[in-house]
Amino acid sequence: MTTATSTVRPRALVEVMPEYHPPLAARTALRLDFNENTFAPSPRVLERILKTTSEGLTKYPEREPTEHLVAAHFGLAPEETLLTNGVDEAIRLLCLAFLEADDEAIIATPTFFMYDVSVRLMSEHLVRVQADASLEFPFERFLAAITPRTKLMMVSSPNNPTGEIVSREQLIAIAAAAPHAVLFVDEAYYHFHGATMLADIATIPNLIVGRTFSKAYGLANLRLGMIAGNAELMYWVRKVCGPYNINGIALDCLPVALEDEAYVGWYTDQVATGRERMMAGLRELGVGYFPSHANFVLMKIGPKHKELCEAMRAHGVLLRDRSSDPGCEGYVRITIGIEDHVTRGLEALKVSLNEIGWKPDMTKADSLRERQRKGVNP
Ligand code: PMP
Repeated sequence: MTTATSTVRPRALVEVMPEYHPPLAARTALRLDFNENTFAPSPRVLERILKTTSEGLTKYPEREPTEHLVAAHFGLAPEETLLTNGVDEAIRLLCLAFLEADDEAIIATPTFFMYDVSVRLMSEHLVRVQADASLEFPFERFLAAITPRTKLMMVSSPNNPTGEIVSREQLIAIAAAAPHAVLFVDEAYYHFHGATMLADIATIPNLIVGRTFSKAYGLANLRLGMIAGNAELMYWVRKVCGPYNINGIALDCLPVALEDEAYVGWYTDQVATGRERMMAGLRELGVGYFPSHANFVLMKIGPKHKELCEAMRAHGVLLRDRSSDPGCEGYVRITIGIEDHVTRGLEALKVSLNEIGWKPDMTKADSLRERQRKGVNP
């Protein structure tokens, strides 16, 4: 332990920006807490990793060949495509490339916390448009928040932690309302919903779309993401990106994972079936929830949210308490994985709710029914 005191200060914005410390410790139980693939990637990925040579490890990684393959896979030009160290890095690169200290960025909360962290690394002017109690995307108020100083807008669809989606029409309207700003549409959970704006980058010059290989592809540990957008915009993002941002093992594995479409199809089917089962199970237990378009469901637990997470941990299942997210007091998120993991999650939930003496809150169950009457999925 050093005893010397430093007089060096970080940049003023670094001093005040929030920190993101996801609770990663001791995740040895069933991981229904981080929206990962709960099982495994395509078996071809491990086969490819085992072909890594000792000499190969001595080389700096070359991103371009894999980037070209990935671009072709998605029907994009290489200049429109950038592979990143997860979408996390992509978010940071967008902030580095586009945000001056006086610029405003807009997000709709509750949402993924990395937007907050990365924006505030560059600018203090983060505008948070809070959803109402329905947690649906606050479209009108988001539009109204656009000003001449808006430079970056980040929208996750499906959104984390709500599972809500934003329609293509709404996203097009947002991009059109702020042609002087970048609209980043984060499609990290694309596979579990199926709607995409990827083709729209050809006609919307201020649109950038993000995809991750951490979720459906099951490669969270390799750190692989992708952004796609107009070649001119992407030029600036590429400029602030390090040449070796992705390690060579991940670059070798990505084409193999992409080729195994049957595997990703199987995994997304598992999640689609499991999500229906989870939502039906929650209805049976009387637990309110937000109908989800992603590989997780946000449950309305109420004051016993912490107790539930602890009881579930004791039964070998990890959940993510989202209570500290804006507008999410008492809400807990559960990841949907393969069938067997959904079964184990539901069984542990039943036992744990019982153990902590949890009782359904009829007001919340009623409001859920109201949403269903309005035709909201399911
Ligand atoms: N965007 C959203 C909306 C997410 O929920 C997550 C993961 N929690 C990410 C991006 C980060 O993905 P990656 O693993 O590719 O960095």
